[in-house]
Amino acid sequence: MILVINAGSSSLKYQLIDMKKESVLAKGLCERIGLTGNISHKTDKGVTEYETPFPTHMEAFQELVKLLTTGDLAVISSMEEISAVGHRVVQGAELYNSSVLVSDDVLSALETCSELAPLHNPANIMAIRACMEVFDPSVPQVAVFDTAFHQSIPKHAYLYSLPYELYEKYKIRRYGFHGTSHRYVSDRLAQLMDCPLSKMKVVTCHLGNGSSITAIDGGKSVDTSMGFTPLAGITMGTRCGSIDPSVVTYLMEKEGLTPKQMDDLMNKKSGYAGVSGVSSDQRDLMQAAGEGNKRAKLALDIQQYQLRKYIGSYAAAMGGLDAVVFTGGIGENSPETREAACKGLEFMGITLDRAANAACRGVEALITAPGSKVQTWVIPTNEELLIARDTKEVAGL
Ligand code: ADP
Repeated sequence: MILVINAGSSSLKYQLIDMKKESVLAKGLCERIGLTGNISHKTDKGVTEYETPFPTHMEAFQELVKLLTTGDLAVISSMEEISAVGHRVVQGAELYNSSVLVSDDVLSALETCSELAPLHNPANIMAIRACMEVFDPSVPQVAVFDTAFHQSIPKHAYLYSLPYELYEKYKIRRYGFHGTSHRYVSDRLAQLMDCPLSKMKVVTCHLGNGSSITAIDGGKSVDTSMGFTPLAGITMGTRCGSIDPSVVTYLMEKEGLTPKQMDDLMNKKSGYAGVSGVSSDQRDLMQAAGEGNKRAKLALDIQQYQLRKYIGSYAAAMGGLDAVVFTGGIGENSPETREAACKGLEFMGITLDRAANAACRGVEALITAPGSKVQTWVIPTNEELLIARDTKEVAGL
């Protein structure tokens, strides 16, 4: 049994996975850590949700352990049944190109990466420390990084054209994120196509509130749209994606913004929400556009144009393309977005099966026509399962 933890600064998502069948026994979410505290917990037997104080991540852990082991919704009789814990860690920088067993040295190394991901890594580290206190020291804790899969990106694709010393001094470069998702769907694609990834050139599109697109050549990430932080790349729910960097200094001067205010503007007030003035949520945008809202339509046009541009440019970068994968809340559930993203790409060998695409929501499906040179698939992502698989392997279970 493996417990998978995905911690944010005030929240903690968990899944308990039975690795014999790779099935989820329980999953839940602790929210408002540091504030009032709220937990929701779901198993085959039912769901419960209630408020309880969570001053820190530690109390949240204690509560989820209580729910897993006692009461009506218990799925195990004691914590000893949990053989390892896998933690999602956002930033592993250049230190980690694969998942790793957590030790004191690893924790110190992760602290050094926190500067590069101040919103995420401290929460991940806090959760690991809390878990280490709650669990017996013999239970392996494994860190699985969003960035690790992208460590194979070659230097000419990850380096920004700034003075080289700044890369050496601050490690400013493209890191890329959503690595576990891109890796999961590409592994699954190889199974579905019955073709080894080592023989394929693939573009994976993870489209959710945060979105990133990755070029995978021979099973290795060779480029990805997110960069130094998850702000770069295509336009997202509230993030602006890549823009001319001069806009940043120009706006700061014109509007008298501090770095923090500018950062907030680009991360929280931009993207589809900023362009449309309607919402960051794809469903709201589609509804508003359908009712004639021009800016909601514009936000969707931007999204679709950028998707085509990325797919085309990554095919060019790799010198070919065998498959495209759509995943994430939008990629899995929006046939309209997928159709628009593939529109006009017939010249590259993508011939959509419109009926198969229209019928596919949230399930694995091939959405290109028989004979399409480039196969296009919808593959629901499962980052937790990949974290659990890595944890099992790294822990030697
Ligand atoms: P996160 O990045 O927070 O994990 P998700 O992967 O859950 O986000 O994706 C959330 C996005 O998916 C939202 O924009 C939401 O509107 C969109 N989405 C979910 N279901 C649908 C649907 N049926 N049609 C279109 N978009 C959808």
